[in-house]
Amino acid sequence: MAETWNSAVRQKSTELHGHTWHVTFDDSITPDGTAPGWYQYISGSFAGFTCSLCKRYWASKRVQVIFHFYLNSASNQGTIKVRCFKQECKRCDEAQMEEPNFPVENVDVLVERLVGKIRMRCYKEDLGDTNRASKLFDKIEGPHESLHCEACHLGICSQAK
Ligand SMILES: [Zn+2]
Ligand SMILES: [Zn+2]
Repeated sequence: MAETWNSAVRQKSTELHGHTWHVTFDDSITPDGTAPGWYQYISGSFAGFTCSLCKRYWASKRVQVIFHFYLNSASNQGTIKVRCFKQECKRCDEAQMEEPNFPVENVDVLVERLVGKIRMRCYKEDLGDTNRASKLFDKIEGPHESLHCEACHLGICSQAK
């Protein structure tokens, strides 16, 4: 999974001034705040889940993703921490929180938006209104299973009504 995100970021290398930006998953980051020197970007996209017990597949229209990013200007290396909110199967009693699987094209769009934020925050570029990112692929309708959504449990889900 991390490899998909890292390769999407590598493709944006020229926009990131040729600096190396590395993506790591970190389930400990929260939307409440960032460490000193770090910036935050919260987004979300359609994603699919598979229950590791019954193998059932379900999709969710907007799965929350939090990015915390930091540029070490001494080494010209950037770090991006990513947390994707999980969901659990509604059919299994012993269900565990499953990681979302984002379509590759949506990872590309999320990274495109994130890179825009990085350029504005870390490189102080003024992108103005030209920073219009591509549209996310999103094909489902239907109710959101708040009971089984990690972001809902934390009260930060964008799908909760
Ligand atoms: Zn299940
Ligand atoms: Zn939710």
